[in-house]
Amino acid sequence: MHHGTAQLADPARRARARLLMMTPTAQGLMVTGGSEARIVTRHGDVLYCDCPDGVQLCKHLLAVGLHLA
Ligand SMILES: [Zn+2]
Repeated sequence: MHHGTAQLADPARRARARLLMMTPTAQGLMVTGGSEARIVTRHGDVLYCDCPDGVQLCKHLLAVGLHLA
């Protein structure tokens, strides 16, 4: 995938990601505010989301990335 940086730079997408809420849980960061709550987990330096559709950089990962930045 080579479009991750372009997606990150999309202001509308970033704005939507900033509306999401993050709550720490035993499983990982629970991201809510979208259609469904998702769990984002960290493995070393890599973040994973449990989105079922295999999106490379979903809004949940974007939200957590912006939150940690
Ligand atoms: Zn996701």
